[in-house]
Amino acid sequence: MREPDPNLLSINTATVRAQWQLPEIIAGCARRGIRMISPWRDQVAATGLKESVQRIKDAGLALSGYCRGGMFPAIDGKTRRAALDDNKRTVDEALALGAPCLVLVVGGLPKDERGRVASKDLIGARAMVRDGIGELLEYARPSGMPLAIEPLHPMYAADRACVNTMSHANDLCDELGGGLGIAVDVYHVWWDPQLEREIERAGGHSGRLMAYHLCDWLVPTKDLLLDRGMMGDGVVDLPRIRGWMEAAGYRGPHEVEIFSANDWWKRDPDEVLATCVERHRSVC
Ligand code: ZN
Repeated sequence: MREPDPNLLSINTATVRAQWQLPEIIAGCARRGIRMISPWRDQVAATGLKESVQRIKDAGLALSGYCRGGMFPAIDGKTRRAALDDNKRTVDEALALGAPCLVLVVGGLPKDERGRVASKDLIGARAMVRDGIGELLEYARPSGMPLAIEPLHPMYAADRACVNTMSHANDLCDELGGGLGIAVDVYHVWWDPQLEREIERAGGHSGRLMAYHLCDWLVPTKDLLLDRGMMGDGVVDLPRIRGWMEAAGYRGPHEVEIFSANDWWKRDPDEVLATCVERHRSVC
């Protein structure tokens, strides 16, 4: 298989978030010839939205996405409405930043005010996700901001996202219609026996494949959230999955997103970016 186009490499800013604030990440990526980033909302808030927009523009960078909206299930109506309002503000930020899509981590079981899981109703949570995305689409669609559901690995079903497969995400896209797509993150979906078929299914609709996130699955994985691997250090057949994405018509960014508390977040961030560039070329 041919090497990936280096111009498609994007850095999800979580990858060096422990070492750098957003302005340093922007400058660091520009220095390395990386042309795209996908910033996180808290990092944009820390820098200020206006200043973030300006710095990204001055550095000549584009966005591959904006992280993130979602977290729809809620314990009561008031909390649910507050989450929807916050999601609308996130859409506005994504528009100001020029993001091609807003990534949605849809939320798991409803939590109480202290953040503890307060319900076992997974079916109900999934209904709240469907309704929440539907309501947000009514706001995002006319503003021209596509929403990308990111199915998360089933180990996060309780606390982060109760949409855990490409199949479920495709079903939601079928049901809710235009302006909604999928962020395919290899970390979350690499294990799925239906992956090739569901990528193909998403590719059958123009624009439904909205983002492609890269890292690797380490064996053993030592932390449920913060032990993602650098591409090439784990067991995911990255070229094969890229092949499926390309066969489905995807030509968009390859966004490296690595949460790694005990390894990559402890290294020199310039070295991390250099490794991302090299591994993208050699193993993705
Ligand atoms: Zn991701």
